[in-house]
Amino acid sequence: MEWLLSPEGALCLSCGRLRGQLSGLPLCPACARELVRAPYGRGMLCPRCKSLIRPGKPCAFCARDRDHLLGETFAPYRYHGAPRSLVLTLKFRGDARAAALLAPAMARSLRDPSAFDALVPVPLSAQRLRERGFNQARELAELVGVQTGLPVRDLLVRVRKTARQTDQRTLRERTLNVQDAFAPAPGASCQGKRLLLVDDVRTTGATVLSCARVLRQMGATEIGLLAACIAPGLIKGQKKVVGKVFRKGRR
Ligand SMILES: [Zn+2]
Ligand SMILES: [Zn+2]
Repeated sequence: MEWLLSPEGALCLSCGRLRGQLSGLPLCPACARELVRAPYGRGMLCPRCKSLIRPGKPCAFCARDRDHLLGETFAPYRYHGAPRSLVLTLKFRGDARAAALLAPAMARSLRDPSAFDALVPVPLSAQRLRERGFNQARELAELVGVQTGLPVRDLLVRVRKTARQTDQRTLRERTLNVQDAFAPAPGASCQGKRLLLVDDVRTTGATVLSCARVLRQMGATEIGLLAACIAPGLIKGQKKVVGKVFRKGRR
């Protein structure tokens, strides 16, 4: 009878439609199924970074990480459908129930948590944090930490307020936007540590590569990435696959 008392509770957190039968989850049956099945879509995936690759072609994302800053990427979902809606619900409506739905799948995608010493959320700028009131990457990291037993360490700060990555269309714009945007948090150290960066979505990877560079300079020996979703390679306004965007960015 929960929905009679609270109409909000009768709506699916992902698609906004009436939930119909009331399960324990704040989702309609279709969205709940999608979340469990975790369709990764068609196409071959790079085993290291989980980007879509063309058979026989090298992975454009891994090729870009020339300094081998980032090890393996773990992510349960592609950025579409129910998982994408939940990321947006978390980020822009601040609904913590969305994080609670995404985090268990993230923890499961991490086959061996003991391969890492700590979770490091990608930080927001102080101003963005004030505007939003929370850091969605940190919310996810906290919940994954509870499930895996890994501690959450705020090792990085965003020293330069950057424009929204979603407003940057090309890889070059995205890379320049986050260059030198991160620095070690005051007093932070991670000498010899194996760290897992945590973010909600990985698109071109410009943000996480920028974070990984700083963590390497701080002495981290290994850096992985745990994200809720991997964007399939499309950047807003561009109907191009990641590979093409990369080539465009290099010009
Ligand atoms: Zn739904
Ligand atoms: Zn790759």
